[in-house]
Amino acid sequence: TKTLIVPNSETFSNFVQEEIKKGNDAIYEINTPPTYLKLLDMLISFLPLILFSILVYYTIKMQNFGGKNKFYDDDAKQESKIKFKDVAGLDEEKGELVEIVDFLKNPDKYAKMGAKIPKGVLLYGSPGTGKTLVVKAIAGESGVPFISMSGSEFVEMFAGLGASRVRKLFEQARKVAPCIIFIDEIDAIGAARTTGGSGGDSENNQTLNQLLVEMDGFESSENIIVIAATNRPELLDHALLRPGRFDRHIAIPKPDIIGREEILKLHAENKKIAADINFKELAGDTAGFTGADLANILNEAAIHATRYKRDEIIQEDIEEAIKKVTIGLEKQNRVVSKKDKKITAYHEAGHAIVSRCLKTTEKVKEVSIISRGMAGGYTMYQSTEDKSYISKTELYENIITLFGGRAAEEIYIKDISTGASNDLKVATNIAKE
Ligand code: ADP
Repeated sequence: TKTLIVPNSETFSNFVQEEIKKGNDAIYEINTPPTYLKLLDMLISFLPLILFSILVYYTIKMQNFGGKNKFYDDDAKQESKIKFKDVAGLDEEKGELVEIVDFLKNPDKYAKMGAKIPKGVLLYGSPGTGKTLVVKAIAGESGVPFISMSGSEFVEMFAGLGASRVRKLFEQARKVAPCIIFIDEIDAIGAARTTGGSGGDSENNQTLNQLLVEMDGFESSENIIVIAATNRPELLDHALLRPGRFDRHIAIPKPDIIGREEILKLHAENKKIAADINFKELAGDTAGFTGADLANILNEAAIHATRYKRDEIIQEDIEEAIKKVTIGLEKQNRVVSKKDKKITAYHEAGHAIVSRCLKTTEKVKEVSIISRGMAGGYTMYQSTEDKSYISKTELYENIITLFGGRAAEEIYIKDISTGASNDLKVATNIAKE
């Protein structure tokens, strides 16, 4: 008996053939190579495949979760402590929303009457007007969890993933129902469908189709309400808006003067604010600001007050915060040449004087040649009222005021500078629009 180690049966049979040819006959004991060698051999031949699979797995995972793997956890389900009292202003809108809370709380009441509970609600309005806040308040008031996703998170590079995420979202919602599904930035998936187009387009179409299928699929008895938010409702596909889908539309407007006062007061509640702060006046000075802007201003004011080691937030902190938010940070220490200062002084004075001679322009509140943000100097106007319409005369006079800076440079410096470039841009925009 001889011992022979051969790597595999093929080599063995070749060897036997050779031996037979040579006329040798002997009894061989077959000893296969140790298992670990075989395993190693296998591993090496599969290595490229394994590495490739790992690579693909992680790429998909990254795509799928944008880094944060919260979608399959229960974390996606959130409870909200926010109530309607945390949303200031928006009184009419809240009235509409109270009904949705009632749907979620007392579905039977409506079912008895034969009423179908709406499946989808679309909130639209400028960014920062409080759409997310409102959804949290609905969830908080009705005591149901909400699952939130942002439209842009659905947009995937790999075909079919967006659609499967929509499916998973609704699956999860069914498990925790009654609940609210909140889709922020729905325009990212709900933009009007295109035919053909690039890969990205058709992928979006698939995601949108899946959303439509899911919305048609669940019964109103399942007690899931889908709330979507967008700041561009005009982009949305009509299929999304028809009855049975997002058929309730609620506009969330920028707050008016009363709304602004309420928002300021609400956000001042947890801050140390001087007693003499006049919120009404402040609301008057902040026409066009959203709730988020106002919250930001009070926060900046609190930071400013802390930096100056004050006991409470005073008017000056708030004014500084408004300027910081609207124009930019004050740059007192920036070195400015005498020549630049002179140009800025004439330029800003030009704006201020021209606007004084016009009928419709607002009163000048402050003129400064201390640079802020990108601006070398600035002229601030008092905003007095909320306007829905702007007349042609106002637009003309706006343009004239904007040109006041350039005109002053021409007259007094006898030269013009790039200081007017932003004014010209704004004026051109007004004219074009
Ligand atoms: P949107 O979703 O419309 O972009 P958010 O709901 O995220 O806006 O609002 C951002 C923040 O602005 C809120 O967290 C809140 O602090 C503040 N805010 C906006 N609107 C209001 C409001 N009506 N009342 C109180 N706070 C508001």
